Amino acid sequence: MTDAPGASALGARLADIDERIADAARSVGRAPSEITRIVVTKFHPASLVERLHALGVRDVGENRQQDLTAKRAELPPLDGLRWHFIGQLQTKKARAVRAAADVVHSVDRDRVADALHAAGQDGAPLDIPPLDVPPLDILVQINLTDDPARGGAAPADAAHLAEHIAERCPSLRVRGVMAVAPLAEAPAAAFARLHDASAAVRRVVPDAGWISAGMSGDYVEAITAGATHLRIGTAITGPRPMHG
Ligand SMILES: *Cc1c(COP(=O)(O)O)cnc(C)c1O
Repeated sequence: MTDAPGASALGARLADIDERIADAARSVGRAPSEITRIVVTKFHPASLVERLHALGVRDVGENRQQDLTAKRAELPPLDGLRWHFIGQLQTKKARAVRAAADVVHSVDRDRVADALHAAGQDGAPLDIPPLDVPPLDILVQINLTDDPARGGAAPADAAHLAEHIAERCPSLRVRGVMAVAPLAEAPAAAFARLHDASAAVRRVVPDAGWISAGMSGDYVEAITAGATHLRIGTAITGPRPMHG
């Protein structure tokens, strides 16, 4: 079967994935309403976000700061839409990310947290959040591979990082953990380690119960492992255009 690129194909894929998500949740005794499905729109034009919003999507994910900033600037305000930043985060991009993202999934070291916190301060003393700045929801990204270049804190460092943020970055709100499953391993085993890291973070920040895991190829396993936030791209959007 080939998909026409029109709105009806997009709507059909969205409905199909949502049905699969709901089935997977129910099959492990979870309520589908516990799960937030984020549509990853990276590399697609801003117009795709507008079409998704018209189909009822309220959570979209971007992995590059420049694209996130540009799409938000290009689009009219879209009611209730939340932008999730899911890419690797450099400290020099923290101000722009804070300005454009509603949730940042990829906080993986103290310096990145400090930079995001400072970006919310506008010159105020760092230990006192200004009253008019809403806290930024963030997730501690966990590296489930042995390769430090993949991004994410080592699972053993997750609790320390959460503690640093809770104590030193009052304009950030730790909501939970995020990870990408390694390519060379069954996702269920990797997601079990993420679940352990989530428990470690919750010992520091008890209500930080979000688990962002699961992409087009492994969202069913992620739901089984307790994911609360799924980041699904190609299964809903179709193939990504080449990025140039
Ligand atoms: C691109 C991306 C996704 C979505 O991947 P698909 O395989 O297209 O579903 C999810 N999470 C992160 C961090 C990504 O960069």
